[in-house]
Amino acid sequence: MKATKPPPTGPCIFCEVIGPLEGEHLLPAWTRGVLEEVLGSGYRRHRVFKTENPREMRRWHNPIATHKVHCVCYDCNHRWMKSLEERVKVPLGNLMRHGLQIIPAGDSVRRDLAAWAFKTAAVGQEMPDVDIKPIGLDARRHLYRTGEPPPNVVAWVSPTPAPAFDVVIQSGLVEPFGHGYVSQLAIGRICLSVFGSFASSPLPYRPVSVLAVDPVVIWPRHAVWSQSPTLLVPTESGRLK
Ligand SMILES: [Zn+2]
Repeated sequence: MKATKPPPTGPCIFCEVIGPLEGEHLLPAWTRGVLEEVLGSGYRRHRVFKTENPREMRRWHNPIATHKVHCVCYDCNHRWMKSLEERVKVPLGNLMRHGLQIIPAGDSVRRDLAAWAFKTAAVGQEMPDVDIKPIGLDARRHLYRTGEPPPNVVAWVSPTPAPAFDVVIQSGLVEPFGHGYVSQLAIGRICLSVFGSFASSPLPYRPVSVLAVDPVVIWPRHAVWSQSPTLLVPTESGRLK
């Protein structure tokens, strides 16, 4: 795997403090154990997409939980990010193992899952060769300061649309639907999706059902979908349907 290593020092993508950057796991190491339970292996193919018309740009067969990105400071990594990780470990582990059979109902756990998905998307866009970084500083700063995804972000959980893959997608969205970004993270039996808007309101999407199962919106609280186009979902072939 060819990788251009970022410099070991720079601004933290969340708090902006300039200094040494920690190697943050794209997925925490504990997820590998859960993936082994679910898949019989901690290994699964994974890929990264970019560009407005998503195409596969990277594919690995390494366990994704070993992949690190150098983009966060010591304090962020060992304080709020560690705390967030500890809070999502049980509910996310359950979703990874059992899919949508067990959907966390509490506001705080849904907020944490959405914040975790957003955090992971923000770290994911720092991977080498990903040159589209739609999650801007204001949005990252909002997460750092409040522990919540920024305004106009919608997050949902669905069955994984591509069971053979762990998928991290960073993509700008195209007209006529408006401007924003989507990041979908397939993990175990589920897919966590984050849909952000560059506009002053959430973009008028609603996610499609996957494998005949309706997605469950976990953020914002009490979200209501408007009549809207459906969000495209990546398929095994890497194309959209
Ligand atoms: Zn920081």
